[in-house]
Amino acid sequence: MSEDSLSRLDLLYFARRVVQQQAERALAEIDRWIAAEERKAAALRRDAERNRQRPDWLVQYGLNRRNIDWLHRGDCWAAVKSGRCRPVTREQALDALRHDVPACTHCQPDTELRFLE
Ligand SMILES: [Zn+2]
Repeated sequence: MSEDSLSRLDLLYFARRVVQQQAERALAEIDRWIAAEERKAAALRRDAERNRQRPDWLVQYGLNRRNIDWLHRGDCWAAVKSGRCRPVTREQALDALRHDVPACTHCQPDTELRFLE
């Protein structure tokens, strides 16, 4: 083998290693992008599922579980915190307001229900 053919072969191996390293780096970056997109998609699915299961309106019972203390929107943090809520339909929510059940001051369900008196 001549000196020229050896160095040409060395160059080809070198070029191969460089391209391989670049390809590995590019693949690793694409894998990170894929993982990030998969995390985003999973979070969107979880949010959609949560929204699907969440009722639009909640009544919050008093400590004795008989009186209704408040009417909330389904996404109210105060309702979640109370742990004494039951889902109701829009009609039941309007009925509660008509019967002077107070609207939660945080989520203001009366505004959303356009309940004006
Ligand atoms: Zn509320």
